[in-house]
Amino acid sequence: MKNISIHTLVRENILKLQPYISFRDHNEFTAPVLLDANESPFGEFNRYPDSTQKKLKNRLADLKNLSSSQIAVGNGSDELIDLIIKVFCEPKKDSVLMMNPSFAMYGFYASINENKVLKLDLDENFGIIKDDFLKIVEEQPAKIFFLCSPNNPTGNSIEDIEFYIQNFDGIVVVDEAYIEFSENRSSLELLNQYPNLIVLQTFSKAWGTAGARVGMAYASEEIIKLINTVKAPYNVNSLSQQLILETLDDEIKFKENVNRILSERAWLQEQFKDIECITKVFPTDANFFLVRVNNVEEVYDKMLEKEILTSKRDPGIPGCIRINIGSRQENEMLISFLKNIQS
Ligand code: PMP
Repeated sequence: MKNISIHTLVRENILKLQPYISFRDHNEFTAPVLLDANESPFGEFNRYPDSTQKKLKNRLADLKNLSSSQIAVGNGSDELIDLIIKVFCEPKKDSVLMMNPSFAMYGFYASINENKVLKLDLDENFGIIKDDFLKIVEEQPAKIFFLCSPNNPTGNSIEDIEFYIQNFDGIVVVDEAYIEFSENRSSLELLNQYPNLIVLQTFSKAWGTAGARVGMAYASEEIIKLINTVKAPYNVNSLSQQLILETLDDEIKFKENVNRILSERAWLQEQFKDIECITKVFPTDANFFLVRVNNVEEVYDKMLEKEILTSKRDPGIPGCIRINIGSRQENEMLISFLKNIQS
């Protein structure tokens, strides 16, 4: 159990803030006359959504074996990244630490809030160098460390995550957007030992519902209360809450889809071996590959011409392109195109 007081890490104005409370959502009514929120009495979606996302949280609590008070739901995990920074980072004063390369939105939201973004350069296999981590946290203490595993855009998982949680005197956000594609265990099981841990997950990847914009933060009740205090009251709309509840009902389809993506991943991995312009395929635990190619600029532009959209990571990661695992048809189009490129 780590000994750290969350209270002392929170911005003072946030500690004083009163959360918006929808009277309706915090009480049970059987035959309500709803004249409290200036809605229209007409139409199918005339009512505001449940601001506490009660049904969804109860379902997620069962699924993850946690209490619903340990769950915050956001308009995508993007929103939760923003909210976590708002809770803990004093604008113009505090810093956040992120891996480099990693998911850009940590730096984006920190910069909007005028928080400094410290970058921990990864080694050539995109692992963290522990000594570099210890050095940076000692020399330039940050409030939040965003640890993305499996990491976007590199695809690999970070080893020994507990070490970073133990050795960071602030909040560690383990972003598990791609965890369902990995054989590694989720850090959710560490929540009871580490009060400074927040785990992010999302419905946008393995669950196949990016359009609904629903993500979760799992943490201690204390941290979840703070996130709920700063969130917009109706941040997740009714249609999305409903859709996610229905999605959760079909666990068989979810598992089938994940397995299909994993078998496509294995297929692509084999196919990449015969592509001349690909000089390296980095190991992946996610639903995408990072590959290094000869003449990256040209390969990328030619793919664009054919309307094959990929994500160029060069010059940040020299010579590299991130390629999402698609349907068999999309993957075949990609491979047949790459086979015809002369390097
Ligand atoms: N974290 C990581 C690592 C991601 O790659 C993404 C989306 N690309 C997100 C968070 C945001 O996901 P969401 O759709 O839940 O906002």
